[in-house]
Amino acid sequence: MEAWSLNHDVDVAVVGGGLGGLTLAIGLLGAGVSVDVFEQADDLREVGAGVALAANSTRLLDRLGVRPESAGNAPPDVHFRRWDDGTLIWSHPVGDWYRERMGGPFLTLHRATLRRLLAEAVPPERVHTCHRLVGIDQELGGVRLRFAGRADVLARIAVGVDGIHSAVRGHVAGAIAPVLSGEIGFRGLIPVERCPDMPTPTSMQFWCGPGTHVVAFGIDDGTLINLLAVHQPDRLPDWTRTSHRTAGSSTEALALFRGLGWDSRILGLIDNVGGDMHFWALLDLPPLARWSRGRVVLAGDAVHAPLPHQGQGAGQAIEDAYVLAGLLARAGTSGYPDAFATYERLRRSRARRVQHYSRQAGRFYKLEGAAAGRRDAALPGLPERIRWIHAHDVEVPTAH
Ligand SMILES: Cc1cc2nc3c(=O)[nH]c(=O)nc-3n(C[C@H](O)[C@H](O)[C@H](O)COP(=O)(O)OP(=O)(O)OC[C@H]3O[C@@H](n4cnc5c(N)ncnc54)[C@H](O)[C@@H]3O)c2cc1C
Repeated sequence: MEAWSLNHDVDVAVVGGGLGGLTLAIGLLGAGVSVDVFEQADDLREVGAGVALAANSTRLLDRLGVRPESAGNAPPDVHFRRWDDGTLIWSHPVGDWYRERMGGPFLTLHRATLRRLLAEAVPPERVHTCHRLVGIDQELGGVRLRFAGRADVLARIAVGVDGIHSAVRGHVAGAIAPVLSGEIGFRGLIPVERCPDMPTPTSMQFWCGPGTHVVAFGIDDGTLINLLAVHQPDRLPDWTRTSHRTAGSSTEALALFRGLGWDSRILGLIDNVGGDMHFWALLDLPPLARWSRGRVVLAGDAVHAPLPHQGQGAGQAIEDAYVLAGLLARAGTSGYPDAFATYERLRRSRARRVQHYSRQAGRFYKLEGAAAGRRDAALPGLPERIRWIHAHDVEVPTAH
């Protein structure tokens, strides 16, 4: 029996309505492929903090008709500073300099803004919220998706874009779990008027200290600063044995960074992080032996979640979505075996290399002593060293 002889509920089921899943839906719908998105949450609103989008993703979003530029901040430059006194180690233009060379803008925006822009491009009837996938089986000619407290859905093919703790991944690649990098991070959004001493708040800023680093950038219209602070302790706290995050407070975070001699401007940012704060154990995903199994394929963090240190997790999810949508549009859902194989061939090595560079960057920011001096001396070569990430334009092969 072939796919078309079954009574499918949907053609392409996308599990996960995050940044990658919505981009995939936009790409498929734009190419006339029927798609339904199943998201566990009860809406597509996003909490959380800021996200940086480099040209490798802003270029693709633009082609899909999504224009984050209208809502994002374009940092004019990037600054590397010393942790203890804020001395400028190196700076470089971003803004127009970057756009002219990379073929797209570098933007920083609130994750909620980005998700809203993506969600607005998908008709609401194609998005099924409150659908938490709890099981998946392949039958002759289709994929049966089981959702908690909901009727099963039968799809021709399914894409698991359900994030780093993916429920689809086990079905495709077995029990591969994310691994701890040994770093603990916390994030926050701070109104810019609370930190009047912060130099150039719309810039992309890396503050580098021994065993710690901070990334700060303005988001949207520049009225909020996004903070990501990362610490690599000698020994991970006990809570990381059983959980990836724990509730924390800015008082605890402040005590840690004050104790390590951080500059008062970063302490001021931490002090002004409002609302609930969590400490996160940073994670990335080991390579999977396979990206697809039969009619089910993985994309985004579910298949290659990187550490956040190159700001590329969303970018790689967007690249995956763009390529997969293009291949499925060309092959049709019945051509999924070729489409999935070509997708993995085009994406695997790049995504892995981005993961590797993300790990390296996390170490690079936190060097100390002579190694930190060598890092600082090498910073002028950074734009060239990471150009391959930003300048990359994904190719979707045309039909033979
Ligand atoms: C501290 C930090 C900072 C970051 N900063 C950046 C940055 O600056 N730039 C950047 O590009 N990336 C950044 N990232 C990474 C980025 O957020 C992710 O890589 C990106 O969101 C991945 O997109 P995705 O669609 O694969 O997964 P997600 O966006 O995580 O979406 C997964 C979706 O699947 C849903 N889901 C999960 N399980 C189920 C289920 N069982 N059934 C149904 N739905 C389910 C979830 O609710 C969610 O909506 C950062 C990450 C971290 C941790």
